Amino acid sequence: MTEFELIARYFSRPCPDDAVILAGGDDCAALRVPAGEALLVSTDVLVSDRHFPAATAPFDVGYKALAVNLSDLAAMGGTPLGVTLGLALPSVEPAWLHDFAKGFYTLAAKHQVCLVGGDTVKSPVLSLSITILGSALPAKMLKRSGAAVGDLIAVTGTVGDAGFGLRAVLSPSTIPAALRQHEINYLQERLNRPTPRVAWGQKLAQFAHAALDVSDGLLQDLTHILSASNVGADLILNDVPLSSAAQAWIAAEPSSALRPLSAGDDYELLFTLREEDWARIDFQATVIGRITAESGLRVRDAAGNIVPMPVAGFDHFAARAEL
Ligand SMILES: [Mg+2]
Repeated sequence: MTEFELIARYFSRPCPDDAVILAGGDDCAALRVPAGEALLVSTDVLVSDRHFPAATAPFDVGYKALAVNLSDLAAMGGTPLGVTLGLALPSVEPAWLHDFAKGFYTLAAKHQVCLVGGDTVKSPVLSLSITILGSALPAKMLKRSGAAVGDLIAVTGTVGDAGFGLRAVLSPSTIPAALRQHEINYLQERLNRPTPRVAWGQKLAQFAHAALDVSDGLLQDLTHILSASNVGADLILNDVPLSSAAQAWIAAEPSSALRPLSAGDDYELLFTLREEDWARIDFQATVIGRITAESGLRVRDAAGNIVPMPVAGFDHFAARAEL
């Protein structure tokens, strides 16, 4: 199969979107950026066995690649305009490509985001590069640097699920016996098919002060907001939202109670806002702390006592393969 045949067979779906002027067939795609808005661009490179286990189902590889990329756009409060995909493949495996494309397009359809260009090459290692293009009003973009003293700190959804899901995939023998199969399935689904919070990010852009998506772990990502905003934070450990599956895991293995703070790959939005704006939140989100003038990040228990944290990176399942 030639490159052209491969693209024609698996990656040529029409772009009905108003934002797309040209996609495919020319040397560049052409996109229309709404008047007065800024173009937002974010690229992710994913390498097999480094960013996802090599045995990951191709549907999930395609789904998750787009999900993590869309999540970055969500974290800015942006609206997707289009996406490009670079695929480096050791060989052309029709069944793999079919399922990969199905996963990719399944999520693309949910967000009306169109594949507008890309490239395919032969490579010794399976890897992919994906670039989301989007737009937002410059004055409304959600940045990391806007957190203010007194802000509430909140997070969407639940955290820690993907970390437990990864452990279930990599070390199935360590799954607590008390965990039910549907709970294990849920955690793995959260790992393999994260939900980019695009619509929630757009709402937050109306009033939140700072935001990012949780990719490297709650504590580590929060420190990015703190240093960009030159503030500190108090985090209440017991207020960190956990799914019932994650709670079941921790109940069966209490030593894993801090894992949700350091595990990555959840792709929830972590944000700060004025207390009086909390009433404007009409989606799943939980207040987990407050921005302080005192620098540094303190995790506290329900009584307000500081909970000592293990050194960063203590959890090897959360270790990332970033350069
Ligand atoms: Mg991000």
